[in-house]
Amino acid sequence: MNEIPGYQRRHSVPVKVGHVTVGGDAPVVVQSMTNTDTVDEIRTAIQVADLARAGSELVRITVNNEEAARAVPAIRRRLDDMGVDVPLVGDFHFNGHRLLKAVPECGEALAKLRINPGNVGKGSRRDPQFAEVIEIARDFDRPVRIGVNWGSLDQDLLSRLMDENARRADPQPPEAVMREAVVVSSLESAERAEALGLPHDRIIISCKMSRVQDLISVYEDLATRCEYPLHLGLTEAGMGSKGIVASTAALSVLLQQGIGDTIRISLTPEPGGDRTQEVVVAQEILQTMGLRNFTPLVAACPGCGRTTSTFFQELADEIQTHVRERMPVWRERYPGVESMSLAVMGCVVNGPGESRQADIGISLPGTGEKPVAPVYEDGEKTVTLKGETIADDFKAIVERYVERRYGQGTSRA
Ligand code: SF4
Repeated sequence: MNEIPGYQRRHSVPVKVGHVTVGGDAPVVVQSMTNTDTVDEIRTAIQVADLARAGSELVRITVNNEEAARAVPAIRRRLDDMGVDVPLVGDFHFNGHRLLKAVPECGEALAKLRINPGNVGKGSRRDPQFAEVIEIARDFDRPVRIGVNWGSLDQDLLSRLMDENARRADPQPPEAVMREAVVVSSLESAERAEALGLPHDRIIISCKMSRVQDLISVYEDLATRCEYPLHLGLTEAGMGSKGIVASTAALSVLLQQGIGDTIRISLTPEPGGDRTQEVVVAQEILQTMGLRNFTPLVAACPGCGRTTSTFFQELADEIQTHVRERMPVWRERYPGVESMSLAVMGCVVNGPGESRQADIGISLPGTGEKPVAPVYEDGEKTVTLKGETIADDFKAIVERYVERRYGQGTSRA
């Protein structure tokens, strides 16, 4: 990775989630969540496997009733049979204490439990039900994410803080009290979990908000008030570009400050859309910020009036897809390949310059230019392609480049 000027990671206690470490010096972990019915163990196992193969390092599944709890060990077995060792996280609301007691194999099959202190139980039932989940996690030696969500904030706590605020000489605006309540809910719950015997290094915290500025403010505060690893994510981020932009805006401000040990992008998929998009977006946020490398990224120019055909856009898309498809094999055979940079450019204006900057690049002919496409490798023009087979020829050149540069014993990275 390139050095990031001024970057300093916030100190946090590392927490083991199965074989994955969250916090400490570990890289920021990418996680995701399924949207299948957990009871449908086959579809859920397939989706977990898809998410894991796309690069999700932890996958969360909802455990909302006893049938779902009974499906969890079966899902784990199916994944093991498929050779997918991604740790599973169970998402519990309202009845987690009952499900984990009724189906102990569920707790055993999970690498982490997520509970929301705002809906672990109402009134006098809240504290004992919270305690039951924590004690089960403690006895199974499982970490817990205390996941506060402002949409289901503990209303008793919020009333208490609102009352205290009203008595102050300088009362804060209600939004500030609400943000404080989110933070206090997570910290008081963590303190309580530790008092119940859950070790300090078995706790991860999240405080999800739906507005970017609220999320940034809450996590900046949280980061100074505890040393638990922090799970970042904007809740209800939305669909398509809105969800991607909002999540990127919020998370990049925090990540740049060294805040955040694991991220999830809560995108609402298009109907029938691919759930793995949230994993790709999470990886691209971390990679474009220079925090981790996952997959070679293709730089492409936006196109303009100098390109009247869509050929270069199609080629850029084809190359990015090709690279993603080849990554499972490349990752095994060619260590370091994930940091490779590629460029697909539309004309001679910026094409040769940008292609020279990339590890490997191609500059396609713009309107009125000679129909040739020079290829640059490590800053040098190596070949000029022409004719109908430019796309396939370039893919073959990329393949040879990867083998030569990242093949065992020949890597210069
Ligand atoms: S490289 Fe050429 S085609 Fe691409 S945006 Fe720049 S001028 Fe337009």
